[in-house]
Amino acid sequence: MRALQLHVDSIEYEPVGVEGRVFEEADRRRYRVEEAIVLFTSVERDDTPEVASEMLRQVAEFMERIGVKRLLIYPYAHLSPELARPEKALEVLRRMEVEARSMGLEVYRAPFGWNKRFTLSVKGHPLAEQLRVVTREDVLSRREARAEGAPRQEAVQVQERAAAREEREPLHIRLGRELDVFSVNENVGSGLILFHPNGAIIREELIRLIREVNRRLGFREVWTPHLFRSTLWQRTGHYETFRDRMFLFRIGDEEYVLKPMNCPGHAMIYASVTRSYRDLPVKLSEFGTVYRNEQPGELTGLLRVRSITQDDGHVFARPDQVEQVVREILDASFEVLERVLGAPVHVNLSTRPEKHIGTKELWDVAESDLKAALESVGIGYEVKHGEGAFYGPKIDVDVEDSMGRRWQCSTIQLDFFMPERLGLEYVDQDGTRKRPVMIHRAILGSLERFTGLLLEHYNGRLPVWLAPVQAVVLPVKSAHSWYAERVLRTLLDVGIRAELWEEGTLEKRIREAHRMRASFVLIAGQAEAESNTVSVRDHEGKVVRGIAVEEFVRWIEGLVKRRERNVGSVDESLTTGLR
Ligand SMILES: [Zn+2]
Repeated sequence: MRALQLHVDSIEYEPVGVEGRVFEEADRRRYRVEEAIVLFTSVERDDTPEVASEMLRQVAEFMERIGVKRLLIYPYAHLSPELARPEKALEVLRRMEVEARSMGLEVYRAPFGWNKRFTLSVKGHPLAEQLRVVTREDVLSRREARAEGAPRQEAVQVQERAAAREEREPLHIRLGRELDVFSVNENVGSGLILFHPNGAIIREELIRLIREVNRRLGFREVWTPHLFRSTLWQRTGHYETFRDRMFLFRIGDEEYVLKPMNCPGHAMIYASVTRSYRDLPVKLSEFGTVYRNEQPGELTGLLRVRSITQDDGHVFARPDQVEQVVREILDASFEVLERVLGAPVHVNLSTRPEKHIGTKELWDVAESDLKAALESVGIGYEVKHGEGAFYGPKIDVDVEDSMGRRWQCSTIQLDFFMPERLGLEYVDQDGTRKRPVMIHRAILGSLERFTGLLLEHYNGRLPVWLAPVQAVVLPVKSAHSWYAERVLRTLLDVGIRAELWEEGTLEKRIREAHRMRASFVLIAGQAEAESNTVSVRDHEGKVVRGIAVEEFVRWIEGLVKRRERNVGSVDESLTTGLR
């Protein structure tokens, strides 16, 4: 990230015309800011949230030194040849604005995506004009310097190391702690995630969504135990190839395995009755928690864990059904990812590797089925030659988050091997026994990873339907508590996740609600109690007064029901239709 930092008597700017396809709403009028630091900022391709935080830290330190409280963040593309994509740049700038405000600065931001006319009056002192460059390497070496250069006293050293660790910590771990979503406890074990009530809410909402999708796709939900005898894993071949990553133990004469995947259980359900060609495709789904013994060094937050809950599903299909089944799953997964994240996706098709089972003809048909499915949903994809699993080709869907990082979510994996190993069959039209194709699929991938993605993508401020706290009701004074309680009850009655906070000054409670990422703050004072209304304060600080309680309830219920991506903004849909 590069920024030109100017200490100004004043700056005036005026949005003149929109520059590109990504731009913010802005009025074409003159804006004036006085006695401020202006930060002309170019967000670069490799910038991470940590880079932006480091830039702000440096700027804030300087501002403190010279006693300036006012900061104008000004998008400025002309400082770097390596600019980030506009979507990412805008997201980074928005986050800087929020973060700077949380540092107690008075923050302004010029709109993104506009040609702007500006005039400046820069102060004359030696430090009034400075160029700042912060890269990922700077962030890393600063951490190292902090860790190494720590004074000898052990206590201080420990503190410094903790600080350095905190900085190195992925964003979702910090958010997970601050928002009370999850934790890891060494007495429980590394990589074994404890979901707190807030985390369990997010998980439950995701499960509810996928259940609806599964039902639509014709999946039937099953449940299988966490533990299978190792003889089953010997039959599938995992005992041989996957053994060092499985949790095995012996009870008497028998050996058991904590399941590292759900597939063999589903295969056993398939095999429990004779299947005719008319019964296929058989589609089974499960929110199945599996256990994999990852190396402790590889475990970071929700990304690599040892207990993983997949939104798993298996289809047992005839070869002539594969294309359609895959197409339906692809459609559903694009729809889900778009609805939940609204982020770009990248699709990969991994084809036959050198070491594989099955004939070349079998692979060719399978690969062309996957291609046909991809083409019929009309999505661009990249072919990864030779990167399929030895037992079949696959499609992966990666999501690009608001910071430009990629997360693997959906997978659709064809498998010729497991039906063979487990002797799965169906009776075909001519009475002969045939092998079904097994298709492994997940839409979100793992609920743990997806929760991490959500936290980072939305910077902790989740869409209302996913937010653990959807509304906080704040009585202005204790005299209004009775009314606030009535509002609370109305919300709880229709299933809105609402809380009532009475302790502390109103201002402090508002700040805390904002910090905890409550979607909306409802203020209940004298005027509200008299008119049976609330004042709705959204996450950007916009306040709309005089909203009838029933009206608000209807509106927020709609947001939740439609699973809109609204992260806590009041818009016309609330305010129109009222007056
Ligand atoms: Zn599977």
